[in-house]
Amino acid sequence: MPSVRRDLAVFGGYHSPQIDVEVRLNTNESPVNPSPEFIFDLQGAIADLSLNRYPDRTADRLRNALAEFHQVDSDEIFIANGSNEVISTLLLAYGGPGRKAMTFEPTYAMYSQVAKVTSTELVEVERNTDFQLEMAAVLEANSKHRPDIVFFCSPNNPTGLDEDPKIISKLAQDTNPMIVIDEAYGQFASFRALELATAHSNIVVSKTFSKVWSLAGLRLGYLIGPKEIISNLWAACLPYHLDAIKQAAGVLALSRLNDMQLTLDLILAGRDQIEAGFDSLDVFYWKSSANFILFRAPSGKGDELWKKLVDRSVLVRNCSGWPRLADCLRVTVGTGIENDRFLYALSEALVELRS
Ligand code: PMP
Repeated sequence: MPSVRRDLAVFGGYHSPQIDVEVRLNTNESPVNPSPEFIFDLQGAIADLSLNRYPDRTADRLRNALAEFHQVDSDEIFIANGSNEVISTLLLAYGGPGRKAMTFEPTYAMYSQVAKVTSTELVEVERNTDFQLEMAAVLEANSKHRPDIVFFCSPNNPTGLDEDPKIISKLAQDTNPMIVIDEAYGQFASFRALELATAHSNIVVSKTFSKVWSLAGLRLGYLIGPKEIISNLWAACLPYHLDAIKQAAGVLALSRLNDMQLTLDLILAGRDQIEAGFDSLDVFYWKSSANFILFRAPSGKGDELWKKLVDRSVLVRNCSGWPRLADCLRVTVGTGIENDRFLYALSEALVELRS
């Protein structure tokens, strides 16, 4: 047996620990399943498929539906099994040995993970202490390192903060790097990355069905960008990578915009509910533009607070051991009842920790 590549052996991959609890608010999914009408229509669509045949390799129906939804050309869309696979395909096509990717930390860990797997050199730039980008630091890092790909995440995971579009626009005036805006949580935010992509030919935008569309279990994401980039991504991915059921489900989801809107309204109301709860419990948090909120435990008590929540059958993400995020936990917005359960558990845990 060969041993694993030496550069892979040194890191353990990306994991979000799953624990059997009643209230699971740790992985930023939608708190509700797709509507019964969607499931019914999906069953009908599956019955009409020829599953003995390979699927449409370029997912034309889904691409056309997405093109119409976003008012872009269907040649400007690449589709993959979740936006994680979008990231991975981007680095397969544009990363690799001799190439450099740049991230702004803390941010979504998948960029650095995929950079390592594809042997892409990684440059990690620091944000300021409020987790915001500084224009001068971004431009300086770009001039100094000359990255091939720059990853922005807006709203940023795990902070929940929007990136500053002015900084991205300014950076995009340098046409050397490809600028990726990961907009997995875009529907919860105020600024739309697609407007920037329309104005700059070196900006691409990645999106997902895993959040507001309630389809994380389906694994469906896509990238919008210039045709030349998109055709290189189709060249780098495996043939028939998108199964026929997923393609049909994506088309159906896009035909039921009202379902998505209802989920969005539910999540935005839940976010207000949790932020109001934090205010009344005197908990420090970063005002969120996403479907999750980063908050701070009493000093040095991140692990303890996380355990006390688990003891009360509530699971949030424990970021307190991550670089730059001492004492921080991240809660995903749930249903109204789940948010209440979380806030109640938090209030009890804080009484114990503060006494
Ligand atoms: N980008 C960001 C910023 C994310 O937080 C996530 C999910 N955790 C993803 C991409 C991946 O989403 P998908 O389910 O589409 O692979």
